[in-house]
Amino acid sequence: MYKGLSMFNNLHNDFQSILGDIPPKLLLQHPPADLALTSPANAGLVNRSNMCYLNSVLQCLKTPLFIEYLNTIVAGSKVRSCSPRSTPATAAPTTLASLTLDCLKSLSTSASPISTKAILRHIISTNNSQHFSSQRSTSQHDAQELLLLLLDILDNEFAACCSSLVNYECPFLGKILNTIECQSCGHKRTNSNDFCTLTLNPSPSISQSIENYMRSETVQGIECRSCWRKHHSERVQNSIKELSEFDTGGLTSTINALRTISSSLEKVSPSSSSPLPPVTLSIDPPSLSTSLPRPPCTSFPSVSSPPPLLCLHLHRPPSVPSSSSPFVSFLQNIRVSNHVYILESFVEHLGRDGQGHYVTYKKEGGRWKIMSDEYVREVEVEEVEGRKAFLLVYRRGAIM
Ligand SMILES: [Zn+2]
Repeated sequence: MYKGLSMFNNLHNDFQSILGDIPPKLLLQHPPADLALTSPANAGLVNRSNMCYLNSVLQCLKTPLFIEYLNTIVAGSKVRSCSPRSTPATAAPTTLASLTLDCLKSLSTSASPISTKAILRHIISTNNSQHFSSQRSTSQHDAQELLLLLLDILDNEFAACCSSLVNYECPFLGKILNTIECQSCGHKRTNSNDFCTLTLNPSPSISQSIENYMRSETVQGIECRSCWRKHHSERVQNSIKELSEFDTGGLTSTINALRTISSSLEKVSPSSSSPLPPVTLSIDPPSLSTSLPRPPCTSFPSVSSPPPLLCLHLHRPPSVPSSSSPFVSFLQNIRVSNHVYILESFVEHLGRDGQGHYVTYKKEGGRWKIMSDEYVREVEVEEVEGRKAFLLVYRRGAIM
């Protein structure tokens, strides 16, 4: 269902390196010296080999709505394994949902750090045969890409065992409605796309980043079906008119053929997406070009289906070190599609390129915490507000 799996084509060997030998250039400074972390105050997640990008995402996913989604998949897979059709009956299979659910539940109950290696192994084995190529890249240990990959695998698991459950979807799933208006004739058409994260360019604040994302823009080269129909109708009508002036009886069948074309053109719906037929005339008025002008259009994106959990991804080029990346204020509530969204957690990336470290900041029980793999401690809001957020997870609130 989700877009963007092609992004993961190069990850396989990188993941393999995590489980096996790790090239020295991928080794992280862990934990980063500037965090000055104290002893763990809560159970965190083990990082034995460059897995902070996975750990940081998992900490963000520990939220009731997402745990409910995982519970649904796990329950569905158990029902499926007990189905009369599956003989002999087998135990519920180990799925990414069950592994992730166990991990997130353990975060609330365990006194010692929890390993996430089984989750990573499952992701590798699931995608090895489907999406990954043997190409190698050392720059794609990206928390946002990992999140999309994880959500995509869970979506497949959901589809396999819960397809009969209606009105339930991944809480990160939203829809963008794109309206395209022809600047020549004013005709509007729309298309809709699913999203699980929205990638924004950094602005002084998250709200401004969203405003810029939603801003209308002029796009070129898009075919307008309404202009197409008007253009060819004029061609046909002009041909009929010119032929009729010279007709002494011998052109009747040609004129009738043009009238048939004219009536079929009237049936072309500007809103449909069916292919446009070629319009070939035996006699074309020289005053009218046979090629269709493509007038500029205005594109207006909007969030037509605001998800229960909104994940925003700030585009920070990996070649730019985090120390030089722009600051974006993010602690305020935001408004998307008439809903208030409240920040629950965010991931920050420290460092640059394939090297660096991901940490999560999360609000629990009214207090902010920093979660850096197995290290978890409370922090004051003054320490949080100066961070450079990379991935932000918001919970949908009231309608405004
Ligand atoms: Zn038009």
